[in-house]
Amino acid sequence: MVAAALAIPAGAQAPTLAPAVRRFVSVDAPVVAITHVRVIDGTGTQPREDQTVALQGGKIASIGPSARTTPPTGATIIDATGKSVMPGLVMTHEHLFYTSQQGTIWHEQSSFPRLYLGVGVTTARTGGSMHPIADLNIKKYIESGKLAGPKLDVTGPYINGAGMDAPQIPELATAADGRNLVAEWADKGATSFKAYMFVSREVLGAAIAEAHKRGLKVTGHLCSVTFREAAALGIDNLEHAIRALIAELVRRKVAITSTLAVFETFTPGRAPISDATLAAMSPQTREYVLRVRANVDQQPATARGKMLTVEMAFERAFVAAGGTLLAGTDPTGYGAAVAGYGNWRELELLVEAGFSPLEAITIATKNGATFLGRIDKVGTLAVGKQADLLLVNGNPAATIGDIMKLETVFKDGVGFDSAKLLASAKGAIGL
Ligand SMILES: [Zn+2]
Repeated sequence: MVAAALAIPAGAQAPTLAPAVRRFVSVDAPVVAITHVRVIDGTGTQPREDQTVALQGGKIASIGPSARTTPPTGATIIDATGKSVMPGLVMTHEHLFYTSQQGTIWHEQSSFPRLYLGVGVTTARTGGSMHPIADLNIKKYIESGKLAGPKLDVTGPYINGAGMDAPQIPELATAADGRNLVAEWADKGATSFKAYMFVSREVLGAAIAEAHKRGLKVTGHLCSVTFREAAALGIDNLEHAIRALIAELVRRKVAITSTLAVFETFTPGRAPISDATLAAMSPQTREYVLRVRANVDQQPATARGKMLTVEMAFERAFVAAGGTLLAGTDPTGYGAAVAGYGNWRELELLVEAGFSPLEAITIATKNGATFLGRIDKVGTLAVGKQADLLLVNGNPAATIGDIMKLETVFKDGVGFDSAKLLASAKGAIGL
Protein backbone atom coordinates (compact mmCIF):
# COMPACT_ATOMS: atom_id res chain seq x y z
CA MET A 1 0.00 0.00 0.00
CA VAL A 2 1.23 3.50 -0.80
CA ALA A 3 0.66 5.55 2.29
CA ALA A 4 0.57 8.87 0.50
CA ALA A 5 -2.62 7.77 -1.19
CA LEU A 6 -4.34 7.84 2.15
CA ALA A 7 -5.48 11.41 2.52
CA ILE A 8 -5.49 12.55 6.11
CA PRO A 9 -7.15 15.86 6.85
CA ALA A 10 -5.07 18.33 8.77
CA GLY A 11 -7.51 18.11 11.69
CA ALA A 12 -6.79 20.10 14.82
CA GLN A 13 -3.57 21.97 14.13
CA ALA A 14 -0.58 20.85 16.16
CA PRO A 15 0.45 23.33 18.86
CA THR A 16 3.66 25.30 18.47
CA LEU A 17 6.12 23.72 20.87
CA ALA A 18 7.85 26.02 23.35
CA PRO A 19 11.67 25.76 23.62
CA ALA A 20 11.19 23.94 26.95
CA VAL A 21 9.42 21.17 25.02
CA ARG A 22 11.32 21.39 21.76
CA ARG A 23 14.61 20.52 23.43
CA PHE A 24 13.30 16.98 23.94
CA VAL A 25 12.10 16.53 20.36
CA SER A 26 14.21 14.24 18.18
CA VAL A 27 11.81 13.63 15.28
CA ASP A 28 9.61 16.37 13.93
CA ALA A 29 8.75 15.97 10.27
CA PRO A 30 5.48 16.24 8.37
CA VAL A 31 5.81 12.64 7.21
CA VAL A 32 7.78 9.88 8.94
CA ALA A 33 8.23 6.28 7.81
CA ILE A 34 9.54 3.77 10.32
CA THR A 35 10.81 0.91 8.18
CA HIS A 36 11.70 -2.76 8.83
CA VAL A 37 10.13 -2.57 12.27
CA ARG A 38 8.40 -5.21 14.39
CA VAL A 39 4.81 -4.09 15.07
CA ILE A 40 3.30 -4.95 18.45
CA ASP A 41 -0.14 -3.46 17.94
CA GLY A 42 -1.53 -3.64 21.50
CA THR A 43 -4.43 -5.97 20.64
CA GLY A 44 -2.59 -9.04 21.92
CA THR A 45 -2.07 -10.59 18.48
CA GLN A 46 1.40 -11.86 17.60
CA PRO A 47 3.85 -9.18 16.47
CA ARG A 48 4.33 -8.68 12.73
CA GLU A 49 7.95 -8.55 11.56
CA ASP A 50 9.53 -6.25 8.97
CA GLN A 51 6.77 -3.66 8.68
CA THR A 52 6.72 -0.05 7.56
CA VAL A 53 4.68 2.36 9.66
CA ALA A 54 4.01 5.80 8.20
CA LEU A 55 3.04 8.80 10.32
CA GLN A 56 1.47 11.86 8.78
CA GLY A 57 -0.47 14.81 10.19
CA GLY A 58 -0.07 13.43 13.70
CA LYS A 59 -1.81 10.19 12.77
CA ILE A 60 -0.86 6.69 11.68
CA ALA A 61 -1.18 6.86 7.90
CA SER A 62 -0.32 3.26 7.03
CA ILE A 63 1.05 0.00 8.38
CA GLY A 64 2.18 -2.74 6.01
CA PRO A 65 4.96 -5.19 5.15
CA SER A 66 8.12 -3.31 4.19
CA ALA A 67 8.50 -5.49 1.10
CA ARG A 68 5.22 -4.19 -0.32
CA THR A 69 5.03 -0.69 1.18
CA THR A 70 6.62 2.35 -0.42
CA PRO A 71 7.27 5.07 2.14
CA PRO A 72 5.36 8.27 1.27
CA THR A 73 7.27 10.74 -0.92
CA GLY A 74 9.45 13.05 1.14
CA ALA A 75 9.08 10.97 4.29
CA THR A 76 11.80 11.10 6.91
CA ILE A 77 12.91 7.46 7.01
CA ILE A 78 13.81 5.76 10.27
CA ASP A 79 15.39 2.37 9.62
CA ALA A 80 14.22 0.35 12.62
CA THR A 81 15.68 -3.06 11.76
CA GLY A 82 15.69 -5.14 14.95
CA LYS A 83 13.48 -2.65 16.75
CA SER A 84 9.80 -2.65 17.72
CA VAL A 85 6.94 -0.20 17.77
CA MET A 86 4.09 -0.53 20.23
CA PRO A 87 1.30 1.80 21.36
CA GLY A 88 2.11 4.53 23.85
CA LEU A 89 1.20 3.41 27.37
CA VAL A 90 -2.23 4.39 28.71
CA MET A 91 -1.85 4.32 32.48
CA THR A 92 -4.77 4.81 34.80
CA HIS A 93 -3.61 5.36 38.36
CA GLU A 94 -1.13 8.17 38.10
CA HIS A 95 -0.55 11.25 40.21
CA LEU A 96 1.11 14.59 39.66
CA PHE A 97 1.80 14.88 43.40
CA TYR A 98 4.25 12.99 45.58
CA THR A 99 3.99 11.90 49.20
CA SER A 100 6.16 13.99 51.48
CA GLN A 101 8.21 12.44 54.23
CA GLN A 102 5.68 13.70 56.79
CA GLY A 103 2.87 12.01 54.93
CA THR A 104 0.12 14.60 55.31
CA ILE A 105 1.10 17.17 52.70
CA TRP A 106 1.45 16.14 49.08
CA HIS A 107 3.52 18.24 46.73
CA GLU A 108 2.95 18.71 43.04
CA GLN A 109 5.98 17.42 41.07
CA SER A 110 7.13 19.35 38.05
CA SER A 111 9.28 16.38 36.95
CA PHE A 112 6.40 13.87 36.80
CA PRO A 113 4.97 14.81 33.38
CA ARG A 114 8.47 14.40 31.86
CA LEU A 115 9.03 11.12 33.70
CA TYR A 116 5.73 9.77 32.42
CA LEU A 117 6.39 10.79 28.82
CA GLY A 118 10.02 9.68 29.10
CA VAL A 119 9.02 6.07 29.83
CA GLY A 120 6.40 6.07 27.09
CA VAL A 121 3.20 6.99 28.91
CA THR A 122 1.39 9.02 26.26
CA THR A 123 -1.98 9.04 28.07
CA ALA A 124 -2.41 9.12 31.84
CA ARG A 125 -5.45 9.30 34.07
CA THR A 126 -4.68 10.75 37.46
CA GLY A 127 -6.18 8.54 40.16
CA GLY A 128 -7.01 11.34 42.53
CA SER A 129 -5.71 14.86 42.83
CA MET A 130 -4.42 16.93 45.72
CA HIS A 131 -4.11 20.06 43.58
CA PRO A 132 -6.81 19.80 40.92
CA ILE A 133 -6.32 23.38 39.69
CA ALA A 134 -2.61 22.65 39.17
CA ASP A 135 -3.40 19.35 37.43
CA LEU A 136 -5.90 21.04 35.11
CA ASN A 137 -3.42 23.80 34.30
CA ILE A 138 -0.64 21.27 33.63
CA LYS A 139 -3.00 19.46 31.24
CA LYS A 140 -3.65 22.79 29.49
CA TYR A 141 0.06 23.64 29.28
CA ILE A 142 0.85 20.20 27.81
CA GLU A 143 -1.93 20.54 25.23
CA SER A 144 -0.77 24.02 24.23
CA GLY A 145 2.86 22.91 23.79
CA LYS A 146 4.28 24.74 26.82
CA LEU A 147 5.16 21.60 28.81
CA ALA A 148 6.34 18.12 27.84
CA GLY A 149 4.05 15.42 29.18
CA PRO A 150 1.36 12.86 28.41
CA LYS A 151 -2.24 13.50 27.43
CA LEU A 152 -4.06 13.80 30.74
CA ASP A 153 -7.41 12.66 32.04
CA VAL A 154 -7.62 14.70 35.23
CA THR A 155 -9.55 13.68 38.35
CA GLY A 156 -11.26 16.27 40.52
CA PRO A 157 -10.65 16.52 44.28
CA TYR A 158 -11.01 13.25 46.22
CA ILE A 159 -14.57 12.28 47.09
CA ASN A 160 -14.07 11.54 50.75
CA GLY A 161 -15.62 11.92 54.18
CA ALA A 162 -14.11 13.11 57.46
CA GLY A 163 -11.38 11.12 59.19
CA MET A 164 -8.44 11.31 56.85
CA ASP A 165 -6.98 14.46 58.42
CA ALA A 166 -5.26 15.44 55.19
CA PRO A 167 -5.70 19.15 54.62
CA GLN A 168 -6.05 18.94 50.84
CA ILE A 169 -8.85 16.35 50.86
CA PRO A 170 -12.50 17.45 51.02
CA GLU A 171 -14.69 16.16 53.87
CA LEU A 172 -18.08 15.58 52.27
CA ALA A 173 -21.07 14.85 54.54
CA THR A 174 -24.22 14.77 52.43
CA ALA A 175 -25.48 13.58 49.05
CA ALA A 176 -25.66 17.22 47.99
CA ASP A 177 -21.96 17.63 48.87
CA GLY A 178 -21.08 14.71 46.60
CA ARG A 179 -23.25 15.92 43.76
CA ASN A 180 -21.99 19.51 44.01
CA LEU A 181 -18.32 18.56 44.11
CA VAL A 182 -18.67 16.50 40.92
CA ALA A 183 -20.72 19.18 39.16
CA GLU A 184 -18.34 21.99 40.12
CA TRP A 185 -15.17 20.18 39.04
CA ALA A 186 -16.65 18.65 35.91
CA ASP A 187 -17.50 22.20 34.86
CA LYS A 188 -13.87 23.18 35.52
CA GLY A 189 -12.62 20.39 33.25
CA ALA A 190 -12.15 17.31 35.43
CA THR A 191 -12.95 14.20 33.42
CA SER A 192 -12.65 11.55 36.16
CA PHE A 193 -13.40 11.26 39.86
CA LYS A 194 -11.79 9.30 42.65
CA ALA A 195 -13.66 8.13 45.73
CA TYR A 196 -11.56 7.57 48.81
CA MET A 197 -11.41 5.58 52.01
CA PHE A 198 -13.79 7.54 54.27
CA VAL A 199 -16.59 8.24 51.79
CA SER A 200 -20.13 7.34 52.90
CA ARG A 201 -22.54 5.31 50.76
CA GLU A 202 -24.80 8.33 50.45
CA VAL A 203 -22.05 10.67 49.21
CA LEU A 204 -20.61 8.02 46.88
CA GLY A 205 -24.00 7.17 45.36
CA ALA A 206 -24.77 10.84 44.65
CA ALA A 207 -21.31 11.49 43.23
CA ILE A 208 -21.50 8.47 40.90
CA ALA A 209 -24.99 9.50 39.70
CA GLU A 210 -23.80 13.04 38.92
CA ALA A 211 -20.66 11.81 37.15
CA HIS A 212 -22.58 9.28 35.05
CA LYS A 213 -25.12 11.97 34.09
CA ARG A 214 -22.17 13.79 32.54
CA GLY A 215 -20.66 10.69 30.91
CA LEU A 216 -17.74 10.67 33.39
CA LYS A 217 -16.35 7.77 35.38
CA VAL A 218 -15.64 7.20 39.05
CA THR A 219 -12.87 5.07 40.45
CA GLY A 220 -12.36 4.19 44.08
CA HIS A 221 -9.84 3.23 46.71
CA LEU A 222 -12.42 2.20 49.27
CA CYS A 223 -12.59 1.14 52.88
CA SER A 224 -15.76 2.57 54.51
CA VAL A 225 -17.94 1.32 51.63
CA THR A 226 -17.50 -2.31 50.58
CA PHE A 227 -16.61 -3.24 47.03
CA ARG A 228 -19.97 -5.00 46.77
CA GLU A 229 -21.83 -1.85 47.82
CA ALA A 230 -19.76 0.34 45.49
CA ALA A 231 -20.40 -2.02 42.58
CA ALA A 232 -24.14 -1.89 43.31
CA LEU A 233 -23.92 1.93 43.31
CA GLY A 234 -22.46 1.74 39.81
CA ILE A 235 -18.78 2.51 40.40
CA ASP A 236 -16.72 2.06 37.23
CA ASN A 237 -13.31 1.09 38.56
CA LEU A 238 -11.65 -0.09 41.77
CA GLU A 239 -8.06 -0.07 42.94
CA HIS A 240 -5.85 -2.19 45.17
CA ALA A 241 -8.44 -4.93 44.91
CA ILE A 242 -7.24 -7.60 47.29
CA ARG A 243 -9.94 -10.16 48.19
CA ALA A 244 -12.56 -8.54 46.01
CA LEU A 245 -15.62 -10.43 44.86
CA ILE A 246 -14.54 -11.43 41.43
CA ALA A 247 -17.84 -12.72 40.03
CA GLU A 248 -19.81 -9.68 41.11
CA LEU A 249 -17.23 -7.23 39.78
CA VAL A 250 -17.11 -9.03 36.44
CA ARG A 251 -20.91 -9.14 36.22
CA ARG A 252 -21.21 -5.42 36.93
CA LYS A 253 -18.34 -4.63 34.54
CA VAL A 254 -16.22 -2.92 37.19
CA ALA A 255 -12.64 -2.60 35.94
CA ILE A 256 -9.73 -3.17 38.32
CA THR A 257 -6.53 -1.16 38.20
CA SER A 258 -3.40 -3.16 38.93
CA THR A 259 -0.93 -1.21 41.06
CA LEU A 260 1.68 -3.88 41.74
CA ALA A 261 4.60 -1.46 41.74
CA VAL A 262 3.40 0.33 44.86
CA PHE A 263 2.48 -2.98 46.59
CA GLU A 264 5.99 -4.20 45.95
CA THR A 265 7.45 -1.31 47.92
CA PHE A 266 5.77 -2.68 51.08
CA THR A 267 6.94 -6.26 50.49
CA PRO A 268 10.05 -7.60 52.24
CA GLY A 269 12.73 -9.40 50.30
CA ARG A 270 12.09 -7.92 46.86
CA ALA A 271 14.69 -6.71 44.36
CA PRO A 272 16.32 -3.44 45.38
CA ILE A 273 14.84 -0.19 44.11
CA SER A 274 16.33 0.41 40.66
CA ASP A 275 19.26 2.80 40.28
CA ALA A 276 17.29 4.88 37.78
CA THR A 277 14.43 5.28 40.27
CA LEU A 278 16.81 6.37 43.03
CA ALA A 279 18.60 8.75 40.68
CA ALA A 280 15.30 10.48 39.94
CA MET A 281 14.96 11.45 43.62
CA SER A 282 16.46 14.38 45.46
CA PRO A 283 19.24 13.27 47.86
CA GLN A 284 17.05 13.84 50.92
CA THR A 285 14.14 11.87 49.42
CA ARG A 286 16.47 9.06 48.36
CA GLU A 287 17.91 8.77 51.86
CA TYR A 288 14.41 8.65 53.39
CA VAL A 289 13.05 6.09 50.89
CA LEU A 290 16.05 3.80 51.35
CA ARG A 291 15.68 3.99 55.14
CA VAL A 292 11.98 3.01 55.01
CA ARG A 293 12.74 0.31 52.47
CA ALA A 294 15.40 -1.16 54.78
CA ASN A 295 12.76 -1.30 57.54
CA VAL A 296 10.35 -3.06 55.22
CA ASP A 297 13.01 -5.64 54.44
CA GLN A 298 13.44 -6.31 58.19
CA GLN A 299 9.77 -7.27 58.56
CA PRO A 300 8.86 -10.95 58.62
CA ALA A 301 6.89 -12.18 55.62
CA THR A 302 3.58 -11.98 57.47
CA ALA A 303 0.20 -11.12 55.98
CA ARG A 304 1.40 -7.75 54.75
CA GLY A 305 4.47 -9.31 53.25
CA LYS A 306 2.31 -11.69 51.26
CA MET A 307 0.09 -8.90 49.89
CA LEU A 308 1.94 -8.74 46.59
CA THR A 309 1.56 -12.46 45.92
CA VAL A 310 -2.12 -12.35 46.90
CA GLU A 311 -2.76 -9.36 44.64
CA MET A 312 -0.97 -11.02 41.72
CA ALA A 313 -3.10 -14.17 42.11
CA PHE A 314 -6.23 -12.07 42.38
CA GLU A 315 -5.46 -10.15 39.18
CA ARG A 316 -4.88 -13.37 37.25
CA ALA A 317 -8.14 -14.86 38.54
CA PHE A 318 -10.04 -11.65 37.78
CA VAL A 319 -8.85 -11.63 34.17
CA ALA A 320 -9.46 -15.38 33.81
CA ALA A 321 -13.06 -14.74 34.90
CA GLY A 322 -13.49 -12.13 32.15
CA GLY A 323 -12.68 -8.99 34.13
CA THR A 324 -10.98 -5.93 32.64
CA LEU A 325 -7.61 -5.19 34.20
CA LEU A 326 -5.99 -1.75 33.83
CA ALA A 327 -2.48 -0.73 34.83
CA GLY A 328 -1.26 2.15 36.95
CA THR A 329 1.64 3.15 39.15
CA ASP A 330 0.08 4.98 42.07
CA PRO A 331 3.31 6.83 42.95
CA THR A 332 2.43 7.20 46.63
CA GLY A 333 3.05 5.08 49.73
CA TYR A 334 6.37 6.19 51.23
CA GLY A 335 7.60 7.27 47.82
CA ALA A 336 9.55 4.29 46.47
CA ALA A 337 7.19 3.82 43.49
CA VAL A 338 7.62 6.87 41.29
CA ALA A 339 6.09 8.28 38.13
CA GLY A 340 7.72 6.81 35.03
CA TYR A 341 10.05 4.14 36.36
CA GLY A 342 7.12 2.77 38.38
CA ASN A 343 5.18 2.32 35.12
CA TRP A 344 7.99 0.18 33.72
CA ARG A 345 8.08 -1.79 36.97
CA GLU A 346 4.31 -2.32 36.79
CA LEU A 347 4.74 -3.99 33.37
CA GLU A 348 7.49 -6.26 34.70
CA LEU A 349 5.36 -7.21 37.70
CA LEU A 350 2.35 -8.06 35.52
CA VAL A 351 4.59 -10.56 33.75
CA GLU A 352 5.88 -11.86 37.08
CA ALA A 353 2.21 -12.29 38.06
CA GLY A 354 1.83 -14.71 35.16
CA PHE A 355 0.59 -12.60 32.26
CA SER A 356 2.49 -12.97 29.00
CA PRO A 357 4.42 -9.90 27.84
CA LEU A 358 1.80 -9.41 25.10
CA GLU A 359 -1.01 -9.55 27.67
CA ALA A 360 0.81 -7.08 29.92
CA ILE A 361 1.22 -4.69 26.98
CA THR A 362 -2.48 -4.97 26.14
CA ILE A 363 -3.43 -4.26 29.77
CA ALA A 364 -1.24 -1.15 29.75
CA THR A 365 -2.37 0.15 26.35
CA LYS A 366 -5.64 -1.09 24.82
CA ASN A 367 -7.43 -1.76 28.12
CA GLY A 368 -6.65 1.68 29.53
CA ALA A 369 -7.71 3.42 26.33
CA THR A 370 -10.93 1.41 26.15
CA PHE A 371 -11.79 2.24 29.75
CA LEU A 372 -11.10 5.95 29.23
CA GLY A 373 -13.30 6.01 26.11
CA ARG A 374 -10.34 6.83 23.86
CA ILE A 375 -9.86 3.55 22.02
CA ASP A 376 -10.97 5.12 18.72
CA LYS A 377 -7.95 7.46 19.03
CA VAL A 378 -5.18 5.69 20.98
CA GLY A 379 -4.33 2.41 22.74
CA THR A 380 -3.63 0.23 19.69
CA LEU A 381 -1.70 0.75 16.46
CA ALA A 382 -4.09 1.13 13.53
CA VAL A 383 -4.40 3.37 10.51
CA GLY A 384 -6.17 6.63 11.30
CA LYS A 385 -5.37 6.61 15.01
CA GLN A 386 -3.29 9.29 16.71
CA ALA A 387 0.40 8.58 16.20
CA ASP A 388 1.13 7.78 19.87
CA LEU A 389 3.68 5.00 19.67
CA LEU A 390 6.96 3.86 21.15
CA LEU A 391 10.08 2.92 19.21
CA VAL A 392 11.97 0.36 21.28
CA ASN A 393 15.42 -1.05 20.55
CA GLY A 394 14.40 -4.60 21.45
CA ASN A 395 11.36 -6.85 21.58
CA PRO A 396 9.12 -6.24 24.61
CA ALA A 397 6.68 -8.87 23.27
CA ALA A 398 9.35 -11.48 24.04
CA THR A 399 11.10 -9.82 27.00
CA ILE A 400 9.00 -7.23 28.80
CA GLY A 401 12.09 -5.55 30.27
CA ASP A 402 13.04 -4.49 26.74
CA ILE A 403 10.55 -1.65 27.16
CA MET A 404 13.39 0.05 29.04
CA LYS A 405 15.30 0.15 25.74
CA LEU A 406 12.87 2.85 24.69
CA GLU A 407 14.36 5.30 22.19
CA THR A 408 11.61 7.53 20.89
CA VAL A 409 8.18 8.35 22.25
CA PHE A 410 5.89 9.57 19.48
CA LYS A 411 2.96 11.67 20.63
CA ASP A 412 0.69 12.91 17.83
CA GLY A 413 3.53 12.07 15.44
CA VAL A 414 6.16 14.18 17.22
CA GLY A 415 9.09 12.06 18.42
CA PHE A 416 10.48 12.75 21.90
CA ASP A 417 13.89 11.50 22.99
CA SER A 418 13.23 9.22 25.97
CA ALA A 419 16.75 9.52 27.38
CA LYS A 420 16.68 13.32 27.26
CA LEU A 421 13.32 13.49 29.04
CA LEU A 422 14.48 11.13 31.76
CA ALA A 423 17.84 12.87 32.17
CA SER A 424 16.05 16.20 32.62
CA ALA A 425 14.14 14.78 35.59
CA LYS A 426 17.15 13.45 37.49
CA GLY A 427 17.38 14.31 41.17
CA ALA A 428 14.11 16.22 41.16
CA ILE A 429 11.57 14.02 42.95
CA GLY A 430 10.74 15.32 46.40
CA LEU A 431 12.08 18.81 45.83
ZN1 LIG B 1 -3.35 6.77 44.27
